[in-house]
Amino acid sequence: MSPLLDTLSNAVGAAHVLTHDDPGADLSAWEQDWRQRARGRALAVVRPGSTAEVAAVVRACAAAGVSIVPQGGNTGLVVGSVPDGSGTQVVLSLTRMNKVRAIDAANLTITVDAGCVLQAVQDAAEQAGFLFPLSLAAEGSCTIGGNLATNAGGTQVLRYGNARELCLGLEVVTAQGEVWHGLSGLRKDNTGYDLRDLFVGSEGTLGVITAATMKLYPLPAAQLTAWAAVPSLDAAVQLLGLAHQHLGAGLTGFEVMGQFALSLVAKHFPQQRVPLWDEHPYCVLLENSDNESEEHARAQFERLLETAFENGVVSDAVVAENLQQAHALWHIRESIPLAQAEEGLNIKHDISIPVSKIPAFCAETDALLQHEVPGVRLVNFGHLGDGNLHYNVQAPEGGDAKAFLRTMEERVNTLVFDAVARYDGSISAEHGVGSLKVDKLPGYKDPVALGLMRAVKQALDPHNTLNPGRVLSA
Ligand code: FAD
Repeated sequence: MSPLLDTLSNAVGAAHVLTHDDPGADLSAWEQDWRQRARGRALAVVRPGSTAEVAAVVRACAAAGVSIVPQGGNTGLVVGSVPDGSGTQVVLSLTRMNKVRAIDAANLTITVDAGCVLQAVQDAAEQAGFLFPLSLAAEGSCTIGGNLATNAGGTQVLRYGNARELCLGLEVVTAQGEVWHGLSGLRKDNTGYDLRDLFVGSEGTLGVITAATMKLYPLPAAQLTAWAAVPSLDAAVQLLGLAHQHLGAGLTGFEVMGQFALSLVAKHFPQQRVPLWDEHPYCVLLENSDNESEEHARAQFERLLETAFENGVVSDAVVAENLQQAHALWHIRESIPLAQAEEGLNIKHDISIPVSKIPAFCAETDALLQHEVPGVRLVNFGHLGDGNLHYNVQAPEGGDAKAFLRTMEERVNTLVFDAVARYDGSISAEHGVGSLKVDKLPGYKDPVALGLMRAVKQALDPHNTLNPGRVLSA
């Protein structure tokens, strides 16, 4: 065994250092990314059980000049959490660190280890009578550390913000193996640069998050879900405006789904009954969280939909009668990525555009893509309330999906990202940069911002040992 592996075994226990030399070793769960776009090879997978052990691992790797890839649930979508193919990197898996450290009811905060699975944090909050609102389809596997490292969004951003807005304090192991004890539950603290915001969204390139203090909210008295068919994307944006007016802070979800995206759910998961999709170009899922009562929420929804019908903004609509129906409607929305995967490989884009410009962006970009690849199929859906679209491009019907990806991905990406830039958008709304978009950043990010990011990286991780080649090119 190498001296480094010896030191790591002493630090975390031999059972928690996994290598390819172990009998029957299968490290694929840590080496293969969720979308199966990349398979790396790790020198070792190290699974510390405490912050002190994380710090010891980081110090040992720094002394040996070995780079580290922090990993939570490995559900990231931009190839940022798996090692490269060199066999020289250590995967630092946080999943053994999964305890809820404290709930402060009066301060409305929960403090958790970074390896806590998101759903476990939601459950712990609910058991204490609170809402932890971060919610996304990977919540059964992703960890709070990964959510913070990618500044994850999800379906409730409209009301509660991204992971960043939900975070009050962090505990972080630096690239030098020191521990920054920043687990503050303060909502106000103007004592200099905001280090918390620097680490949030840094995708494991500036430090290893070991714990976080997150905001809690009162549980709503009622949550109602409606499904509305709209005659156009423009109408969907108008409906969003009306929903803001009628529901105020009660508007906690506003998702748009294009007809082709819904047709894939109907085709591949026929047991799910998708309402209203076949005669309308778009459907919208709305959620109203009410602090008064279900009757109040229902009355608000009825007034909103009445106005929307009168204005010609909604063509048809259903309001879920009970929680089961609401879950079924959300399940349809969450099944779109899986249905799309069933249909075959596709070119994914996670973009954001100012909400007001989304209809024009889609009209222009849809036409450009159709011109470039006649018959191309667009799987357009996403968090319209936040201006975030999953604007995915599928090969024409019957086409060879693999060949399409191989020959067209670069061209399609350029076409879409150039349009995003023309409409003042971002080429990564919520998934991050990872290694998938690292070569795109220089073309689309302000050069001064990019220079400042490099300076920060150089200051915090001068030897480039933390997740090298992710976010910024190595
Ligand atoms: P990982 O995948 O393990 O890691 C992601 C990145 O964070 C890597 O760069 C890694 O190095 C770094 N990292 C992980 N843990 C730490 C740590 N403790 N300290 C420092 N760096 C760390 N994202 C959204 O924003 N909104 C969505 O709606 C959404 N839906 C999704 C649906 C599905 C089905 C899937 C598979 C993914 C979805 N995602 C979504 C992607 C999202 O980024 C991840 O699911 C999640 O936030 C990552 O958490 P993780 O624990 O799996 O992190």
